[in-house]
Amino acid sequence: MPRAPRALTFVVQKHRATALHYDFRLESAGVLRSWAVPKGPSLDPKVKRLAMQVEDHPLEYATFEGVIPAGEYGGGTVMVWDIGTWEPAEDAESAFRAGRIGFTLRGRKLKGAWALVRTRGRQWLLMKSRDRHASAKDVTLAKPRSVMSRRLLAGIARVGGGDVAKAATGDPPR
Ligand code: MN
Repeated sequence: MPRAPRALTFVVQKHRATALHYDFRLESAGVLRSWAVPKGPSLDPKVKRLAMQVEDHPLEYATFEGVIPAGEYGGGTVMVWDIGTWEPAEDAESAFRAGRIGFTLRGRKLKGAWALVRTRGRQWLLMKSRDRHASAKDVTLAKPRSVMSRRLLAGIARVGGGDVAKAATGDPPR
């Protein structure tokens, strides 16, 4: 039997830069395809969250948590808000090109069926599909802490790049 492929990583990084947003990243084709979601994910299938596609990030960035110095790209505080694996319903790269992808998340906070749909240009919508993991609860308010350090964003900012950055991979922060 062929060996099962390694599970694909997904991560959501809460990022206070110029403005607070959540970076939603899906591993595909050896990189993290990335979207900036200003309001963060919603577990309510009725809610569609704007997700602006941004540049791909290296896989190693998935576990970066810490402070990016002001003046550098992405300057501000980064938290690993959720991390886990994801499974596309179909070939991910084809679906990204077509602008519509359904997928399953297996994170600590985000689980079950989700979809990303492109509306125009780099603008997509992130939405929860209906299943037993759907909820009207505001997950960003209910679960504000890092899944890596249990810190809040302010705590990560206080500790700075030192202790927290040791949890990162040593890759240049973005
Ligand atoms: Mn960001």
